[in-house]
Amino acid sequence: MAVIRTTCPYCGVGCGLLVHPDGRGGWQVRGDPDHPANRGRLCSKGAALAETLDLQDRLLHPMLHGRRVSWETALDVVARRFCDTIAEHGPEAVAFYVSGQLLTEDYYVANKLIKGFLGSANIDSNSRLCMASAVAGHQRAFGEDVVPACYEDLELADLVVLVGSNAAWTHPVLFHRLQAARQARPESRLVVIDPRRTVSCEGADLHLAIRPGTDAWLFNGLLEYLRRQGAVDWAYLEAHVEGFAAALAAAEGLSIPAVAERCGLQADQVATFYRWFAAIPRTVTLFCQGINQSSSGSDKVNAILNVHLATGRVGRPGAGPFSLTGQPNAMGGREVGAMANHLAAHMGFTAEDIDRLRRFWRAARLATGPGLKAVDLFQAVRSGRIRALWIIATNPVVSLPESNRVMEALAGCPFLVVSDVTASTDTARLAHVLLPAAAWGEKDGTVTNSERRISRQRPFLPLPGEARPDWWIITQVARRMGFAEAFNYAGPADIFREHAALSAYENGGARRFDLGPLADLDTPGYDRLAPTQWPVTGDPGSARPYADGRFGTSTGKARMLPILPRLPLHPAGAGQPLILNTGRLRDQWHTMTRTGKSPRLFAHTGEPCVVLHPDDVTARGLEVGALASLRSAHGEILVRVDESPGLRPGTVFVPMHWNDSYTASGRVNVLVGAVTDPVSGQPEYKHAPVAVTPYPAAWFGFLLTREAGAPPPVPYWSRVTARACTRYELAGTSQGLPDEALLLTWLGGREGLMELRDPAAGRYRAARVHAGRLEAVLFIDAHRQRLPARHWLEGLFEAERLEDAARACLLLGRAGTPEQADRIVCACHGVGERALTAAIAHGADSVEALGRGLKAGTGCGACVPELRALLRRASQVNAVTA
Ligand code: SF4
Repeated sequence: MAVIRTTCPYCGVGCGLLVHPDGRGGWQVRGDPDHPANRGRLCSKGAALAETLDLQDRLLHPMLHGRRVSWETALDVVARRFCDTIAEHGPEAVAFYVSGQLLTEDYYVANKLIKGFLGSANIDSNSRLCMASAVAGHQRAFGEDVVPACYEDLELADLVVLVGSNAAWTHPVLFHRLQAARQARPESRLVVIDPRRTVSCEGADLHLAIRPGTDAWLFNGLLEYLRRQGAVDWAYLEAHVEGFAAALAAAEGLSIPAVAERCGLQADQVATFYRWFAAIPRTVTLFCQGINQSSSGSDKVNAILNVHLATGRVGRPGAGPFSLTGQPNAMGGREVGAMANHLAAHMGFTAEDIDRLRRFWRAARLATGPGLKAVDLFQAVRSGRIRALWIIATNPVVSLPESNRVMEALAGCPFLVVSDVTASTDTARLAHVLLPAAAWGEKDGTVTNSERRISRQRPFLPLPGEARPDWWIITQVARRMGFAEAFNYAGPADIFREHAALSAYENGGARRFDLGPLADLDTPGYDRLAPTQWPVTGDPGSARPYADGRFGTSTGKARMLPILPRLPLHPAGAGQPLILNTGRLRDQWHTMTRTGKSPRLFAHTGEPCVVLHPDDVTARGLEVGALASLRSAHGEILVRVDESPGLRPGTVFVPMHWNDSYTASGRVNVLVGAVTDPVSGQPEYKHAPVAVTPYPAAWFGFLLTREAGAPPPVPYWSRVTARACTRYELAGTSQGLPDEALLLTWLGGREGLMELRDPAAGRYRAARVHAGRLEAVLFIDAHRQRLPARHWLEGLFEAERLEDAARACLLLGRAGTPEQADRIVCACHGVGERALTAAIAHGADSVEALGRGLKAGTGCGACVPELRALLRRASQVNAVTA
């Protein structure tokens, strides 16, 4: 088989991949050296894609009320129930909830069906949760949702301001490009604005550990500073911007000391940032969820856009505000209008656009006003207003705020359809109809990355079972509803051509989103389509759409907005004194349905955790490695305690990935209130008041098992994918050992069982060997510190036959080594923190030296900031002890 060029299904960097058989029945995935986004590089997630292609947990057949049915039956039921609901309750009673994981072609037909033919605008994307504030900011400032910069600008910039983003983990390949550019030009500067000191701060010239929620004051203060210092580009404002007088007036008088006090920063830090921004014309401000996921996210975005407009730093090489997208095709969803308040092809609910779209689609029943945004949409399900819901490629029971209420809402929804690749997500478990969708590697279509570059996702695997592409499923339902003519596509190329034609339809330069020349692509041309940036107009300015200073507003001028900063709606208080911030880890993706299959991706962080400042750990009687419960007004979770001096005291961080398939009680969005930005509807994920208290575990333990069955029914369990077994970390509050029958169930029976039981000490150790092969290991202990490290025991599962020497040590857990599980830093080469620390102690004094000695950091490079942190920590220790 020839090498297939395709695109990574994870983050918005949109890296190109080369996929080919590995000669051993599997696949090899490499970075595509010719793709302009990544030029051959991949991060740990992309590099581990080949490990995630198995069919375990796949949904392979349509299911109706838990029973397998034919596609005919499933599609008929979906079409009929949606038609009946509309007939009885009107179009507002139905909704679709879709995803940035969808390909543009899937997105396009979903949006066309519900808005154009069912007459409802109740379609929203999970992109609402990650970049809706950036979209609103762009529309308010530029008149259209257009990212005005490109990746190359990061390399050309003399100053990069990274705000609300841990790009080293969330967009690793792009961050690597930035780091490489800084190495080539050491005089360029990096400022990181983030309440946490993340790995993205390694090597930064300035880190502003801002008080959560105060970013708009910082940027308003910058606007005022620019005015006072004469750094405003008045000629640009006069020619290309309106509203600047009001914007400047709103910021007037905001002094550096006032900003510093409000933002919890040192005045000299603020002054340094302002001085650099004023003096360095080539400045890119890169922003992401830390800005967007806020009850004032849109205003924060516009505060950033204001300073760029005030200095004319928009659409110039090395200068511009740059919103990063989280998902692989969040941008594609924006293009097709798969959000409740947009129409397709960057059109809105104006009379002109509605008429234009109705004519283009020959739409029987075009929605004429915005629908419900994500949070409102699920509240409408809960209240019974929405009675038929189709969720496609997303898991809102994990990802939406107040997720327990979302679960209740879905459980009570009269008709719930879920299309997914995974059989049993937290959301799929509630569905009346489950539709098996094609997964990455099987799908065929396009995605658009953060810099507006359209790339092909090409299939290299056959469709397994009865799985079908999302566009096919949606169009089949549409045909059954009576819209056969409008949804008569032979394949994704047909849909793409229509999408491209719509973008150019009666456009005349009014909308920058224009794929006109691609509307005539024949199918072989679509198959060959090389990565292409929009606007696709043949104009060389497509890399920086506003280079000409002409914007998408009615006057052609950009708008600066007066920003009146607001604090988050719910401050910390007596009952919930800490502020919870949620976010991504380096090696996991969303709800782990794919990355959770890869042992090496689990090696970096294996369990759900809460990270606190060491002072808070002490003050709250917590213990690193033990468990803590987090409580808010909305729910409770149970996770492992970790600490970092990089957290601001009074704040905590919990990763967003864990769900009911991987832990007993770790869905962090259970804690987050459904507070949204009034303009964008984006929820406030970065500022939830919580209480953190020690969990009174009476025992801790772990189970290693070759056959991963149902998780043990104990108060705390978390599942970790190891190389040849599954590991469950366990804890409980009942005194004494768990019931013997229970222990035997976990171990898989008594046959071949070795046991060591010491009830007085609260200790139980057992291993089961069958036909010479290790099948299960269970260790329980009243003292967590007495449990051995897991790596040696896990490694024994890789052998088909257990050696006598290993068998003799089994219940010692490698001679009783106390628990000090090594943390894997370099996922590509499996290099742990202990080996790195030892190498540094033996003289390795640079990232390059660690790479030469241990290969660490020589794969995807995503761990390089952590290697730098280890080196820096060691040099600080040496300086203190010298
Ligand atoms: Fe995929 Fe990593 Fe590239 Fe993002 S940076 S697209 S996750 S390989």
